[in-house]
Amino acid sequence: MSTRTAFITGASRGIGQACALTLARAGHRVILAARNAGKLEEVAARAREAGVDAYVVEIDMSSPDSVQAAFHKAQKEFGAVEILVNNAAITRDGLAVRMKKDDWDAVINTNLYGSFQAIQQVLPNMMRARWGRIVNIASVVGLTGNPGQANYVAAKAGLIGLTKSLAQEMAPRNITVNAVAPGFIETDMTAVLPQELKDKLLQIIPLKRLGSPADIAAAVKFLSSDEAGYITGQTLSVNGGMYM
Ligand code: NAP
Repeated sequence: MSTRTAFITGASRGIGQACALTLARAGHRVILAARNAGKLEEVAARAREAGVDAYVVEIDMSSPDSVQAAFHKAQKEFGAVEILVNNAAITRDGLAVRMKKDDWDAVINTNLYGSFQAIQQVLPNMMRARWGRIVNIASVVGLTGNPGQANYVAAKAGLIGLTKSLAQEMAPRNITVNAVAPGFIETDMTAVLPQELKDKLLQIIPLKRLGSPADIAAAVKFLSSDEAGYITGQTLSVNGGMYM
């Protein structure tokens, strides 16, 4: 297995943290990015226990200047990014009829434009190297839609379209671009859901459990590997069978 440099956004907790630790345990150098540097340092310390280098970069995905500065610093100080995991995202849920422009903009800017901008920062080095892996974390709701999440679903469906276009643009350069669409995963993002809703969800999940961050990280690790080199433009659902 080759050792690569992986940049994971939203690595301070939840799915991003699991992706960072799983990639570190697979032998990759990891660059951990999010707003909370203290949390990132804790994750970096755990990643280093796997015997790899781990670096921390503060980033605010909602700010174009911050995204640019963070990637510039990371690639100057720690080396060209070879694996990008676009994981950071937020929700600002509400019914469309009453949704404020701020809530629309915050979600689209952070989840969709932030991810696109991150991709733009790593492409030149990947194109030069003629090797790259981009994994975008989408969502089951980006495939199905979800009432009360018009902004979030638009961003996730957008990310899936972006994945397919970019896969076609980048295939001649041996860069693969894929998405992972998690179902309902136990993290801070879903901790706020009422128990009643979780019970309902369990009824429609054939595997009868919510997913764990490690379930998603395993798919990300595979799509980032040399072995996944003939897979591009795909959306891999990791959802316990809740949507097929
Ligand atoms: P989470 O627990 O809420 O963690 C979100 C991560 O994103 C944190 O590390 C957070 O770090 C970072 N983040 C948020 N806003 C940011 C910003 N402006 N700039 C930089 N980093 C930011 O979420 P999660 O459940 O792990 O979700 C991870 C990904 O999976 C997301 O793309 C989400 O949409 C997707 N997903 C989750 C589920 C689920 O059931 N949990 C289902 C489908 C898809 P800081 O706060 O330190 O910045």
